[in-house]
Amino acid sequence: MLNSLKGLLVTLVSTMKGLREPVTRQYPDSGTVFGHEDKPTPVKDRFMGFPALTWDENVNEPFCTSCMVCIRQCPTQCMSSVMKDNPLHAEGKSDRRKIVDTFEINLNRCILCGICVEVCNFDAIVMSHEHEMSAFTRNAVRVDLPELLEIGHKFQRETGWIPPTQRAKAQAAQSAQKGGEAKADTAAAGTEPQ
Ligand code: SF4
Ligand code: SF4
Repeated sequence: MLNSLKGLLVTLVSTMKGLREPVTRQYPDSGTVFGHEDKPTPVKDRFMGFPALTWDENVNEPFCTSCMVCIRQCPTQCMSSVMKDNPLHAEGKSDRRKIVDTFEINLNRCILCGICVEVCNFDAIVMSHEHEMSAFTRNAVRVDLPELLEIGHKFQRETGWIPPTQRAKAQAAQSAQKGGEAKADTAAAGTEPQ
């Protein structure tokens, strides 16, 4: 009898929890059975939305040098770009000799594979959280450089994005420091009197 009541209680608690925080939802509605919430559908940190370009806050310019690597590797050939000489390099303010002049992605053809992000050596492109860009006409969602930078900038702000190469360097320095400390501990233990 007691065990049956316990089982019933577990079922009731999980049902109430499911009503308050549903695991699935009717897209694009957000909210619960207790009320509609007028806010975008939340996504998880690891969610891969449309690709977007990142902004280098230190130099105040895009990270992208328009090197064409991502464009050559894109399986659907939906990207194009043109580079130009970087005026900030001439002024001694930037290390980038070349910089992106124009960039376009035809998001209708993008399959969100993330290859462009994998192959970029300059931290210049991310899979953003943007996913609500549907349109009624074919080829309507072609995004240009300003729009790609705007989506990327929003993603950087909202996620506290750190350039992957910087993050890798910080992690390597941390591991080196830990390794040094461990060696010092071992050496100190070896010199202690028995
Ligand atoms: S996003 Fe990266 S790989 Fe693509 S053109 Fe720009 S710098 Fe090159
Ligand atoms: S996510 Fe894949 S398909 Fe989309 S632009 Fe990047 S490489 Fe191309």
